[in-house]
This record gives sequence, structure tokens and C-alpha cells, in this order.
Amino acid sequence: MALELEFREIGCNKRMSSTSTTESTDKDFVFMEDEWKRYGDTYLYFSKKYDFAYNKNKKRKVYGDKRGILQMHKHPHVYFIDALWITFNGRIKDTQRVCYKDPEKTTNLYENIHTKDYLCGFCENLFIPRDKKTKYCSKTCWNNNGRKERMQKEKTDLYAFVSSKIADWKKPPYNLKTEDVVDKCKSKKCHYCGIDMVLRCDGRPQPDSLTIDAQEPSLGHHLNNIVPSCWFCNRMFNKCSLSDRQRLLKFLKGEVKTWDLSDLKYTKNDDEIKTNYSRHPWETLWHEDRNKYPSRENCREIFLSLYHKQNKLDALYNVFPIITFTANYILNASCDRVVAGNTDAYQVVPLFMNWAKNDLSNEEFKTQMNLRNYLTWNLDDAKFILPDSYHEDSYFINSLFKTKNRLGAKRTFNMTHEQKEKISASKIAKKRLGSNNKNSKQIRSIDKNGAVEFYANTRCAVEELELKSKAANGNICSCANGKLKTAYGYIWEYV
Ligand SMILES: [Zn+2]
Ligand SMILES: [Zn+2]
Repeated sequence: MALELEFREIGCNKRMSSTSTTESTDKDFVFMEDEWKRYGDTYLYFSKKYDFAYNKNKKRKVYGDKRGILQMHKHPHVYFIDALWITFNGRIKDTQRVCYKDPEKTTNLYENIHTKDYLCGFCENLFIPRDKKTKYCSKTCWNNNGRKERMQKEKTDLYAFVSSKIADWKKPPYNLKTEDVVDKCKSKKCHYCGIDMVLRCDGRPQPDSLTIDAQEPSLGHHLNNIVPSCWFCNRMFNKCSLSDRQRLLKFLKGEVKTWDLSDLKYTKNDDEIKTNYSRHPWETLWHEDRNKYPSRENCREIFLSLYHKQNKLDALYNVFPIITFTANYILNASCDRVVAGNTDAYQVVPLFMNWAKNDLSNEEFKTQMNLRNYLTWNLDDAKFILPDSYHEDSYFINSLFKTKNRLGAKRTFNMTHEQKEKISASKIAKKRLGSNNKNSKQIRSIDKNGAVEFYANTRCAVEELELKSKAANGNICSCANGKLKTAYGYIWEYV
């Protein structure tokens, strides 16, 4: 007897797609009760051979509804595959469930189902679930798993974070791989100070933000040269050499209390100034605010008064001597704004402190130093050994006290007419364009690590950064006006 077949109660989409292929064979389908087995005392019959249940009342195939549940009159709902399993294999244990062996396979369901134990997703113990969707044996395990997942997420966050940080060094010559760098950073402890670091993708970095630092800057970001470093330490070491940072770190931690500088190179009064380090720390004032500090001479006087006021020592710890050696040496004296962004008051501190302090207040800076156990030892024991005749022959000290202003004398005597013209021309230009212009606006640069530098105006910034491009001034303005995102690697903002 041939039967008309309906497919109204077809289960999931997956099974729906198989209907068209089975339909042609179904034309010859004949239901014969002896080949089929009845599910309990219901009107549903299952066959091991056929891929569906047969509803004897309605004379049609069924797979269940969208969730795979069979809706039976006067019977509790049951999953299609559960009913199929139970029909041929008996009751399912409370700690087990019926599932597909291969979820992709759509033919012969009976061959494709088996039972599986309910194992807790966290403790992996056997348990009896509340419903088919329960994954954990208890609320505790559910909570614990949440924590585990959060940790996993944190790790993937670190992956995303590192991946974006090292974008520039993924390419030759460094070829950093994200997973290798993640492995180096996974403890999230600073290589230098050991504090716990925080991932910050947006906004300005904080002293405890995770950064990736090249220990020996001249070697670049090679895998063996990079370390996870907090932003504070990263800033503090800036571009100084590995040996200098190790020297400084030992002193900060009090492992070595005497700092021998006697063999260090410095510019002497009789040296050829042009080829040696001859920049004076007081020039910072003039660079940063030419309205307030119109001449270098004026800046020198202010510096000299600070030198005496601070008793020839740094302003914050009164332990580092006010001296200069070669360019960018970590102990070189530098002028630091007492309050970030405010050119009213300066203090003299060694370069590394100036770098690390950035826009922190003096108190905040000291708090950060204390957190890292830097200079928390008894500083009465600190000792610096200077080169023997430093105070007599150094260009820095002589210039500061104006004892032998050789350079100044030379300038006035040997000037040709042409040179004079040039100077007066540049003075006129400065009058119009420089910081003497009452319309000039103070500007600040923010590098990709979030470090901020201030300049009296864009022209001063161009000079300071020694930008050669004629468009530099315009590009920086465009950035500050929001027309460009960055210029010369910095974000620019008017103050
Ligand atoms: Zn559990
Ligand atoms: Zn650190």
C-alpha cells in the first residue's frame, strides 16, 4: 500500500535539505508495522533502516520541531534522537545524553547517534543536568569557569594588544612574531622594576601601562633585545644604552651606592665646541617660552640661581650633582617644569628624572619612584666621584659662571658683513614668525607612547626637532587643527 507523505514536521534545516533527495525513493515507501519498533506506548514508530519516525495516526514522517522535539498528544515532549535511541537501546542514564557522532552527517540517523556522559565543563566530574543545556555540575563550577574564561580572554587581549604594539616591528628587519612577544609579556611584570602592569589600548598611557622596550636601543626591536617595561621605566631610560641603564638601575635600587663618573667624557673649555656636546640645560627655558625668557643670558642667570638654591644638587632627592657630560647622558642636568605645561617655574633634575617624570607632579613622581623601590635606601650613603678637574675645566661650569666665554668673544670679532646681514635678516624673520609674534600659540606633541613635549609655537617645534621639510610648519599646524591625524610621528595639539 503506497502512502502519501507529508514533510510538515521536519526538524532542523540540515534535515530539510535531505528531503528532496529522499523524496523520490519515498514514492515506493511502504509502512509495515513488523519492520518498525514502537516508541513506548505512543503512536510513533522507528526503524533502524529509515531516517525518520513514522506517525501512525497521521500517516507521515516526523523529525520533531525546530529544536528536534517531538510533540505528541498526551505525552511529554521528547527529543527525536532520544526517542530513537530509547526505542532500540532502552532508557538513557541520568548522567548521559544522546548526541550525533558526526553532526555533519545527515543520512541514517540511527548509525550516527551515540550516548555521551555529562561531564562538568570545569571540574570534569560526571553529573546529572537540570536540562540538556546545563554544562556545569554546580554554581561554583559555573563561577570558576567564568574566571577561567576571563583569564583566557585576558590572554587573547594581551595577544591583540601586543599585536597592535609591535605592528612596526613585524616587518623586516625585526620580524617580531606576536606569539613570541606575548610569551615575553605574559607575566605582565616590568623587566626593570617588577611592578604589575596594565594593558591600556586607548588614551594616554599611565606609569604602570605595559610597553615593549628595546633594552639596547642601538640593536632595535629584535626578539632577544626586547623586554616588557612599564611606561615609567621606559620613559626613564629613553634611548640610553643598556650599560647606562644597568648602571642607573643598580644605583636606584641601592645595589651600588657609589657612582664613579671619573672616567666619563665631557666637553672641556678648550675643546672644539662645534664637535663636542655644547648644549646648555638653561636653553630649555628659551626654547619653551621665548616671551618669558627672551635671551639665553637671562636663562643662564635663572639657572645659576637654581644651581645655588638647590645646593648644586637635583631638586627632588638632593643627591645627583648638577653636571653635564656627553649628549643625552642620563645624569646631565636638565630644566624641568615644576608643574607640567607651566613655564613659570623650573627645577634642575638629571635627564632620566625629567624623562620619567614627564607630566607628573613632583609628589606623583616620588610616589611612582617609591612604588618601584627606586631611591628608597638611605641616600646619605650615596656618593658620586667626578672627573678630577671637572669644576675647573668643564665647558658647562665655565659657561654657567661666565668665567671664559670664548665662544661669545669669537662671535663678535670675526663676523663678516655678510654674516651680519644674515643675522639681522633672521632677527626680522623671528620678529614676525617666532614666539615674539603675539599670535603665536603654545603647542604640544604627543608621541605614540603618549609622551608629551611642549613648544612655544610650531616654529620652535620645527627648530627643536630639526625638521628639514619646508612644509613642516604647515603640516604641524594642520595636525593641530585636526586636518591631519599625525605629523612627523606625533599628534599635535594647541595648548
Ligand atoms: Zn563541576
Ligand atoms: Zn618598570
